[in-house]
Order: sequence, then C-alpha cells, then structure tokens
Amino acid sequence: MHPLQSAGRAPDLTAAHHLLRHAGLRPTRPRLRLAWLLFCQGPRHVSAEMLASEVAATGFAVAQGTIYNALNAFARAGLVREVVIDGERTWFDTHVAPHHHMVDAAGHLHDIPADVVSLGNLPPLPAGQEIASVELVVRLRPK
Ligand SMILES: [Zn+2]
Repeated sequence: MHPLQSAGRAPDLTAAHHLLRHAGLRPTRPRLRLAWLLFCQGPRHVSAEMLASEVAATGFAVAQGTIYNALNAFARAGLVREVVIDGERTWFDTHVAPHHHMVDAAGHLHDIPADVVSLGNLPPLPAGQEIASVELVVRLRPK
C-alpha cells in the first residue's frame, strides 16, 4: 500500500481533474493519477523513474511511455518545469515560479527562492541577445 493512498479507498481525484481541465489537458485516467501524485502532495521534484515507481506502488498500472508523455504534456501546459542537472536526469518541478536549486550528494534537489540570490556582474551579452533566465545550481557535499 502506498503511504499516500488511504487504506482501501481510491484517492480523491477532484483537484487533479480541475487542474488538468484548467490547463486545457484532457483528464485521462493515467493523467489524473499522475497529476494526483504530482500536485496534490505539496511542491515536489520528481524524475519520470521516481513517478513510475510511485504509480506502481499505488497498484495502478501506467506504461512508462504514458508517464513520459504525460510529464511532457504537463510541462508544455506550464504545470511543471523541466530541470536538467548535469545532463544526466530530467527533474520535473511542480514549483514553476522562477527559483534556483541546490543538489545534494544523493542527487536530491532543494529549492532556493529566487529573491535570496543576487547576481553581481554578468558578462556582456552577444549582440541582439537578452537574458531570458538565469538558473543557479549549488552543488552540495557532506562536511
Ligand atoms: Zn525547484
């Protein structure tokens, strides 16, 4: 039994349904389950692999490809933000407002609010270019 699933009862998917409808996404059964896991438990950083094992733990079968497709649809709809650290793994962040990250030795992401970081001098930009975003990654190691 998944700890997020109450004993013997299906999860309440009402909030997930509203979220998908509001984002213009068709609320298919797999998407509803994934949205419930992603958005109804507070802010999260998850990889597709983590989400797949969470779904499996709830006893609901969703194909890996369906999970990837749903995550990409959520990203296009602005419900999650893709975060790539070192090109190894793509994280899907349910906190979509601008912010930075710390990554610990175990590979877990921790949010850094955008307003606690101030950047000093940035290099001159190539002609005709402007900054679209700046994302800081602080890598941690045990002391
Ligand atoms: Zn984040």
